Amino acid sequence: MKEPFLSALPVLEKIQKSGYEAYFVGGSVRDFLLGKDIHDIDIATSATPEELKAIFPHTVDVGIAHGTILVLWNGLAFELTTYRTESDYKDYRHPESVSFVRSLEEDLKRRDFTMNAMAMDQYGTLIDPFEGQKALKNRVIQTVGSADERFQEDALRLMRAVRFVSQLGFQLDRQTEKAISVHAGLLQHIAVERVADEMMKLLSGPFKKDAFHILLQSGLYRFLPSLFNEEEVLESAMAYPISSLNENQLWVLALYFSNTSEGWRRLKRWKLPAKKMKRLVRALDLLKHRMSCGWTPYELFSAGAETAALVESLYRTIQHEEAEAPAKQVKEDFEKLPIQSRKELAVTGHDLMHWSNQEGGPWVKEVLEKIIKAVLYREVRNDKDEIRRWFEKCRLRSENN
Ligand code: ATP
Ligand code: MG
Repeated sequence: MKEPFLSALPVLEKIQKSGYEAYFVGGSVRDFLLGKDIHDIDIATSATPEELKAIFPHTVDVGIAHGTILVLWNGLAFELTTYRTESDYKDYRHPESVSFVRSLEEDLKRRDFTMNAMAMDQYGTLIDPFEGQKALKNRVIQTVGSADERFQEDALRLMRAVRFVSQLGFQLDRQTEKAISVHAGLLQHIAVERVADEMMKLLSGPFKKDAFHILLQSGLYRFLPSLFNEEEVLESAMAYPISSLNENQLWVLALYFSNTSEGWRRLKRWKLPAKKMKRLVRALDLLKHRMSCGWTPYELFSAGAETAALVESLYRTIQHEEAEAPAKQVKEDFEKLPIQSRKELAVTGHDLMHWSNQEGGPWVKEVLEKIIKAVLYREVRNDKDEIRRWFEKCRLRSENN
């Protein structure tokens, strides 16, 4: 047993001492068996949330109706879910009712794929009624029970299947693959935010090319929000070595291939966080600028080191060129700029108003921008006195004109 399971052992033992069962389940067991890093551990227990509250003094209700609570123990937080079955799925998403059950196997049976339907006790012994280990060994993604039924119950599983392909490079089992094509349209019933979460994981996986291929072949792409629901966008992207691109770069690439001026509106349909969207649209502008004019000191400055490197490596990838070294070079070029942020400028708007004896207004921002450019292009040093002399000279010149 290794971390983070070790830290959770006292929680499992405490539940067991109180007369209930508790096991590690789901993705953490899968990733443990695959030798991957484990980011979050899921614990399933026969104890109900109320029973858990009686055992642990500090808990947080995060999803009581679904049987999930957070237990705070030894300074750590653990998500515990009561064994449950789900029934009467409504609208292909939320189950009408969730019933707590006392059997682990019942709980494992409601899980999506066999590789996600294993449990492990505190000694590392596996409970694997649906042959999850075999699926891992054969590198296959297969639904627990009938694929048709499982996708009809909850259509998010369609996207989950494809994002696991992207993350793990596994094959889809034949029935599972067939059912994805048949039920692709059900994805429309799923909240965009949940589809977007899966999409972001899909775009981050090392096997995204395989995943794109499945999106296209199954027709699932047609039910995704804008950008990635276009055959041409996906096919254009697949012509490049996209596995080396990260998630943000792929959004920018999709925007680039979508070839319309309404990128922002189309991106909005994914309901991504506003800050992320802004950064993506900005990166697209920079990419276009990079293509036509290369990097000017001002573009580099306003992009920032990280975004500039992201755009540069995307640009090089599109050119089928080696990307890592140029991206590093761009970062180095950024480091050599006379200033790297507006805060570093030796003068402020107040200085300008004071020097010119003028009230503030839009002119202050405009002049500051001119000064930044002059500093970046090394027309003037970032020194208050020098900038003042430069400023006076410019004023004189404009007064004489
Ligand atoms: P990740 O590595 O991204 O966390 P995961 O498999 O752990 O992947 P989670 O969303 O954390 O995914 O879910 C934990 C477990 O809950 C899954 O392994 C699976 O057993 C079950 N599960 C999650 N979503 C579904 C679903 N839509 N239908 C059925 N079971 C699900
Ligand atoms: Mg998980």
